[in-house]
Amino acid sequence: MSKKQKKMLVRILLAAAMLIGFQFIPATGWVRFVLYLVPYLVVGYDILIKAAKGIKNGQMLDENFLMAVATIGAFALAVWEQSGDYTEAIAVMLFYQIGEWFQSYAVGKSRRNISELMDIRPDYANVEKNGTLEKVDPDEVPIGTTIVVQPGEKVPIDGVVLEGESTLNTSALTGESLPREVQPGSEIISGCINQSGLLKIRTVKEFGESTVSKILDLVENASSRKSKSENFISKFARIYTPVVCLSALALAVLPPLVRLLGMGLAAEWHVWIYRALTFLVISCPCALVISIPLSFFAGIGGASKEGILIKGSNYLETLSKTNCVVFDKTGTLTQGVFEVNGIHHSRLEDKKLIEYAALAESASSHPISRSLQQAYGHKIDRSRVTDIQEISGSGVIAKVDGKEVAAGNYRLMESIGVPYMNCHKAGTIIHIAIDRQYAGHIVISDKIKPHSREAIAALKKAGVNRTVMLTGDADAVAQQVGNTLGIDEVCSQLLPAGKVDKVEEILKRHTGQGTLAFVGDGVNDAPVLSRADIGIAMGAMGSDAAIEAADVVLMDDDPLKVVKAIRISRKCLRIVYQNIAFAIGVKMICLVLGAFGAANMWLAIFADVGVMVLAVLNAIRALYVKKI
Ligand code: ADP
Ligand code: MG
Repeated sequence: MSKKQKKMLVRILLAAAMLIGFQFIPATGWVRFVLYLVPYLVVGYDILIKAAKGIKNGQMLDENFLMAVATIGAFALAVWEQSGDYTEAIAVMLFYQIGEWFQSYAVGKSRRNISELMDIRPDYANVEKNGTLEKVDPDEVPIGTTIVVQPGEKVPIDGVVLEGESTLNTSALTGESLPREVQPGSEIISGCINQSGLLKIRTVKEFGESTVSKILDLVENASSRKSKSENFISKFARIYTPVVCLSALALAVLPPLVRLLGMGLAAEWHVWIYRALTFLVISCPCALVISIPLSFFAGIGGASKEGILIKGSNYLETLSKTNCVVFDKTGTLTQGVFEVNGIHHSRLEDKKLIEYAALAESASSHPISRSLQQAYGHKIDRSRVTDIQEISGSGVIAKVDGKEVAAGNYRLMESIGVPYMNCHKAGTIIHIAIDRQYAGHIVISDKIKPHSREAIAALKKAGVNRTVMLTGDADAVAQQVGNTLGIDEVCSQLLPAGKVDKVEEILKRHTGQGTLAFVGDGVNDAPVLSRADIGIAMGAMGSDAAIEAADVVLMDDDPLKVVKAIRISRKCLRIVYQNIAFAIGVKMICLVLGAFGAANMWLAIFADVGVMVLAVLNAIRALYVKKI
């Protein structure tokens, strides 16, 4: 509980105690008035101040204003009627404040929950100084510092292992507990927990640029991007409150006038003013105003716990309407870890061909490049490579030992005018030309991820009507993957720009039928990620490009997470709609009852606080995610 919340609680308890105690004091007249004014001011002075400030700033028609008018009105009525019944006015203020307190507690709690759930913020980094370990603020560690991570500690900053072997627990980042083995040379990401051995790490980033900071920024900024429902509510409140105030005024003035002038009856001013005040209390829109942002917040929080980072409630809303999911192939549906299956027509020794290819690829982050470097198996001597040029969707051209090496698909060979040999074997073909002379090709193949098939089936079951796979790879490979997975539509041999065109074409075909999500790994597909209604980047641990371009970031690369993200968003939106319907419904009933005099102020405030508490509890449900 924060200091502010504690103070509020004290005020509430104090006012309640006074209110109960005063029932036994037989004071009357002005003494009674002053006596009861004390608890009223104790519990409600801040609301009165806020209402006064609102009037001064010309934005007077908010909840504070409604509450101030209603309670001051009730007080005034009691004075006028000389009934001395001030309890009601105080009780209204008291319950309103209890509601406010509960809401701030719930919001604070869920906010804290998110950072707790995503328990990744490191408190310190161990830096070795003169033989002893010193705990330093991670913010103050420059790039290239050697830090020590002991077993049980969080990795505070992204880095490379210098010494030591261990397993890392990445569950705080990904929601899955797949331990990762690391040894000297492994790149490691901040936010993981070191499980077994002592590690010495050389930092490669500053704390502010490290994965943990990026993720925390993203999660903390998520609530600033408002969804349509939230914007609707603030617009709604802007029209709603003035309408309510005018109606209350009409209710207070018109019926008595009609009675007096039209029907020749007694005006009964106090009855109608009381009904108008009740009406004001009933119409306070707190439940809506609070529970909707809270539901989104809880939805985003629950998702982050699962390693699904959603950049804003607007994206959560769009995601919930997903009807068509377009996948990139390499690294998304397939593992992006290629094995060399054959080397044909080589003019050189096979090993030499792989060496040239791996060196030329040394600067690329494409899965193909990583796999070729793996196949080469030796340390890459970067000084042998110059003039590197990567042609997105085709391959790379670079100078290796002074010779121009081109490695890529048939399109690359055509663009440099080198005739190439086709391959009879199924797989991804890397043609290689050295100094514009064809030097042979390497056939590599990729494996489908274990969950891809299940994910496509689960999407269908979740009501997504169309699945599409886009790839820059060859037809044969694409068709085979598409058939194995049961994908509706396969488009192959696309350049990165072609992928954007294709997505635009599908968007056009799909207008009015829900939204289109694109799932990619961020390699060569950032433009598509931003063009789709919703861009989902997977395996984003450490890939900045993907984190920037996407709307939803999956920390690991399990395609089932796409289904989970859609389910979370749908559940969250369901809760939002339930709350809207429930709150508006109860308000309507109370308003009608109030207008006919069948509801008093007690009922009104109970309805208001009750609806709010239930709506907030319902909203918190969005925090919990069912396992699939
Ligand atoms: P995908 O759509 O499957 O993710 P990309 O658009 O990234 O594939 O690449 C399409 C094709 O371009 C690859 O299948 C490969 O033939 C070629 N290519 C792209 N980048 C490289 C690279 N760095 N080295 C070799 N070939 C590449
Ligand atoms: Mg790709």
